[in-house]
Amino acid sequence: MLKHVIIIRMKKADYIMNNSNMAPRYDLHSHSTYSDGVLSPTDLLHRAAAQGVDVLALTDHDVTAGIAEARPVAMEVGISLIAGVEISVTWKKRLIHILGLGINPDFEPLLLGLSALCRQREWRAMEIGKRFEKIGINGVYEGAKKYAGYGVISRTHFARFLVDHHHVRDKQDAFKRYLKRGKRCYVPCQWATLDEAVRWITDAGGQAVIAHPARYDLGQTLLKKFIGEFKETGGVGIEVVTSSHSHQESQTMARLAKEFDLFASAGSDFHTPENSWVELGRLPSLPPDCEPIWESWPVKIDNGKSTLMH
Ligand code: AMP
Ligand code: MN
Ligand code: MN
Ligand code: MN
Repeated sequence: MLKHVIIIRMKKADYIMNNSNMAPRYDLHSHSTYSDGVLSPTDLLHRAAAQGVDVLALTDHDVTAGIAEARPVAMEVGISLIAGVEISVTWKKRLIHILGLGINPDFEPLLLGLSALCRQREWRAMEIGKRFEKIGINGVYEGAKKYAGYGVISRTHFARFLVDHHHVRDKQDAFKRYLKRGKRCYVPCQWATLDEAVRWITDAGGQAVIAHPARYDLGQTLLKKFIGEFKETGGVGIEVVTSSHSHQESQTMARLAKEFDLFASAGSDFHTPENSWVELGRLPSLPPDCEPIWESWPVKIDNGKSTLMH
């Protein structure tokens, strides 16, 4: 069997997934219960398969622990799993997310860096709890902690607790009133530097990609400065298509990808089935003149069936 295995560099035209002529469906950004998603990696993979996803990246915030659970399930349901992570970065006092795709999730320097970020998250969560207590809303830290369970604690868990206990109308409202930068219960935090995040990812064998670049309100000049620095540190991709981007924003990011010679990525940023407008694998196509990041990936062809090598 092994003698039939060949490894090639993929080109769009000759890439055939699962013996079908249909273009494979990619979703390169998703979350599980190991961070602020509500589905376990097992349930996430089953849902992705039901949605016709061929290639899924699990990209939990600052943690890679979900990959071990996801791997055997991906094999079972016939999905090529891309081991990923979404790293919190502080750049010019702003929180930026950098995706790592195709990483070795057990690479020691990456794990060391991520565990420092998780300690920061724990500290910040306690501080957020104190801020709520000061304004007379008690038990928020304990509540959020319970929602996080074994996962890495995030502001999303605070938002879910606040919604379920009728302190706010919905998650957006929780961020708008309390959790966003500048709001009463916002606690600033020092995350990884851009250089550290890109280095951890690259040294772990992965590709660094700027997550949802239109979400940072950087303005054109600062965004270009950021992309320039990202590229200098070794970053190779930019998320062009994602659920929180409008059509116009995707077009802008496609132009920037071209200008900075970066690969284009596409991912839903799926967190929960409750948001009916964000679904695994349900994304517009990349604009035509983009270079999809998966075209840089090696593919294994075994008796006519091709699988990504990550
Ligand atoms: P954290 O990583 O703990 O700072 O939390 C950031 C997470 O909160 C993001 O990954 C989103 O899932 C979620 N989030 C951020 N801003 C908003 C918002 N305005 N409304 C709803 N969820 C948000
Ligand atoms: Mn999130
Ligand atoms: Mn993000
Ligand atoms: Mn995300």
